[in-house]
Amino acid sequence: MSDRELPSIDELDVAGKRVLVRCDLNVPLDDGAITDDLRIRAALPTLEALLERGARLAVCSHLGRPKGQVKDEFRLTPVAERLSELLDRKVTAVRDVVGDEAREACASDDEVVLLENLRFEPGEEANDPGFTDALSSLADVYVNDAFGASHRAHASIVGPPERLPSAAGRLLVNEVTTLERLLVKPDHPYVAVLGGVKVSDKLDVIGNLLDRVDTLCIGGAMAFTLLVAQGKDVGRSLVEEDRVEDVKGMLEEAVAKGIDIHLPTDVVAAEEPTEDAIHETVPLAQIGNRMGVDIGPETTGDFAKTILGARTVLWNGPMGIFEIPDYSAGTKGVASAIAEATAEGAFTVAGGGDSAAALARFEMTDAVSHLSTGGGASLELLEGKQLPGITALRQASK
Ligand code: ADP
Ligand code: MG
Repeated sequence: MSDRELPSIDELDVAGKRVLVRCDLNVPLDDGAITDDLRIRAALPTLEALLERGARLAVCSHLGRPKGQVKDEFRLTPVAERLSELLDRKVTAVRDVVGDEAREACASDDEVVLLENLRFEPGEEANDPGFTDALSSLADVYVNDAFGASHRAHASIVGPPERLPSAAGRLLVNEVTTLERLLVKPDHPYVAVLGGVKVSDKLDVIGNLLDRVDTLCIGGAMAFTLLVAQGKDVGRSLVEEDRVEDVKGMLEEAVAKGIDIHLPTDVVAAEEPTEDAIHETVPLAQIGNRMGVDIGPETTGDFAKTILGARTVLWNGPMGIFEIPDYSAGTKGVASAIAEATAEGAFTVAGGGDSAAALARFEMTDAVSHLSTGGGASLELLEGKQLPGITALRQASK
């Protein structure tokens, strides 16, 4: 594995230097207020380790999708406030990314400078060399700790490693080594519990897991496309008709590999996918002209039993529309089983933005061995892809 190891911040000379730290501080905002600060808290270990060793920081991140324009609602101001509270230090938040304010602040003695939203600059997503030069020239050293953005070949992710001494931050190293444990020599029995909206988002992950897992438990809306592929009636549930053939192929491959596939046998059937819709729990065969909005208790119990017998569990995607309390029991039941398995020594990983939100809602974020901060990035890693940000760091260290 040694040639795959990431360059560590422990080997970087940072004392008295300005360190450009690419973080993923893309937190959910509601009317300017941060609704979940997981990503800011996850960035602290690296920032604190660098400060302790006498570095001055130029922290940078994207937030939302301002598409290369300055938009006030995407300013990092709320992030700066929260970061300052959590670090218990002054944070100098500048109003530009690579302009005069940013340059002056980075040249000053200020210990923590936060650059403005990287995506205010069109050069960020375009990976423009001129923008990368300007960004790199703000600092002496570069650290990538933005796991959640490392699947993007954007300027701040792939550019600085070609120009500055570079390393991977603690969060990035932790995410990569933990997620790789799901692919390389996992303990068995190994169960993947998958859900969420689209089977098309997750077919590549399933494909890469077929050589590794013993059991797949599939719920959420994506289960209905699998059920249709098996010839079942799913009423008006969400189905990706154009994926039914792909799914049939996947199911055949899974059967050939001896993988146990568990699908919903009962569901919460609702007239509409809304809070006030008439709904009841029924066996799948009685769904009629309704939509499945959660897995039923029989299915939840079956998934829970499977999870409790596992040594490794990967969970990605909610089992139902968990945002609506009446349709959240399946997701909560699965989360509780994973928490119990973790307490009994299983290695458990949850990934996906909405799965993380579900755990936060149930106040169970600490109940898994690892909660990934990167939705798309963790899926790509589990698909077996090389992430551009990680490749850039590995090449820089050669
Ligand atoms: P993640 O972000 O964890 O990868 P996804 O984005 O794939 O998960 O899916 C999350 C969404 O799936 C949630 O908003 C949830 O409401 C929705 N969902 C889950 N099950 C159903 C269902 N049966 N019908 C409609 N939507 C569903
Ligand atoms: Mg999602």
